[in-house]
Amino acid sequence: MEHLTVTAAQRCVLETIKLLGTENVKLEQALGCVLAGDICANRDIPPYDVSAMDGYAVRSSDLANAPVSLVIIEDIKAGDMPTRTIHAGQCARIMTGAPMPEGADAVIRVEDTQAVSAGALSPNSLPKIPSPQSSPASGRGSEREKQLLIPAGERDAVSLRELIVNAVQINRAAKAGNDVRALGESMRNGEAVLAAGTEITPGVIGVLATVKCAHVQVYRRPRVAILSTGNELEDMDEPVDPNKIPNSNSYALMAQVQALGIEPALLGIARDDPAELAEYLQRGLKFDVLLVSGGTSVGVHDYVRPTIEALGVQMHFWRVAMKPGHPVAFGSTAGAFVFGLPGNPVSSMVCFEQFVAPALRRMMGHARTYRRTISARLTHDVKHQAGRTEFIRVTLSNGSGGYTASATGSQGSGMLLSMARADGLLVVPADCNGLTAGSTVTVQLLDGTVFQDDVGFKE
Ligand code: AMP
Ligand code: MG
Repeated sequence: MEHLTVTAAQRCVLETIKLLGTENVKLEQALGCVLAGDICANRDIPPYDVSAMDGYAVRSSDLANAPVSLVIIEDIKAGDMPTRTIHAGQCARIMTGAPMPEGADAVIRVEDTQAVSAGALSPNSLPKIPSPQSSPASGRGSEREKQLLIPAGERDAVSLRELIVNAVQINRAAKAGNDVRALGESMRNGEAVLAAGTEITPGVIGVLATVKCAHVQVYRRPRVAILSTGNELEDMDEPVDPNKIPNSNSYALMAQVQALGIEPALLGIARDDPAELAEYLQRGLKFDVLLVSGGTSVGVHDYVRPTIEALGVQMHFWRVAMKPGHPVAFGSTAGAFVFGLPGNPVSSMVCFEQFVAPALRRMMGHARTYRRTISARLTHDVKHQAGRTEFIRVTLSNGSGGYTASATGSQGSGMLLSMARADGLLVVPADCNGLTAGSTVTVQLLDGTVFQDDVGFKE
């Protein structure tokens, strides 16, 4: 069978795998999935003009000669509806998110106001207040409010004190609309706010909650099974035997799958015996995706490939020009996709990143299937023999000149700590004859959930 490059093998995987069907999930379970349909707003948000600040709802035309003192005629909390109209010389204390009262067209935040001091206040400096007869609210107000509506010339010392408590000095002018969130500014009733194909991030969850989608139609997550193979393996629940190799691949692969928002099934360890292996593989082929670790190489006891072929799996490739990860295999049946991953712990994880993660993401409907790549400067030389694309585990530092990349120590494919310490995988192109310190390289980021729609490197 043909010996593919990494990108050709990735293309083969992505062309072979199919998008899964859709399902209706609770909003609480939708994070990381992809929307299967458009989502429309079911109301205007905000439903009316509201204040964007804690402050005072004012008539902007009153503020032309700021600073100016205004009489506070109402206190509007978020959740309250205003009951009074703001006339010239008046304002309302208003909280963030509370509806704007009739007559007001701007909000001045608390920080741009101050209490009205008694010394600064004389009857003539007080705000011009409409006479009680002309104020539509005059008949309904409290005793105190009625006092406040007494024309300026008739105020006595008592009403002056009342006025000080119920007035505020606005220190600046403002245009109409200042710190007001307009009706429908965030979304309009009926507007398509999220398109099919959108990845459900925490921000998208917020929008879905805003439009009251308690359930949402998404592409279903693949059901993934993980099988390790090898007589030498010792599983987590077995006593420590110095002659055995701890099974780390099942758990590292489990975590890689979980990081994509999928809960895999662990099938355990199959021994290097064709009959036992066939039994385990048959169980695994009932899932959408089966990951088999180990036994894919050319050793006489590497039974995985012949056994899966005997079970009717059509192999699409076996062996890719990469390091680590050379003996990776990919096949499919009518209902399942099988990845044969190399047993070496680093190889298994690197192959998962290159082939399995993009496949799982595509099955879930994601357009962005590849790990995000960035450019970094190498801090040291890297030896490389042309022929295979190499993935070197690196740490990244972000300095004034951008990112720098440094290898995480010894790079053997069994050195799992090199992976555990890595921020990313440096991609050494196949045709490269070594890299020198200071050269610019491409690094695939391993952390986070950010993916891109292009592989991001050339081989
Ligand atoms: P194989 O691909 O089966 O030839 O295995 C290659 C190397 O990977 C051998 O040293 C195995 O012991 C090791 N290995 C295989 N499977 C696992 C596993 N599940 N966990 C840790 N190491 C493994
Ligand atoms: Mg083996």
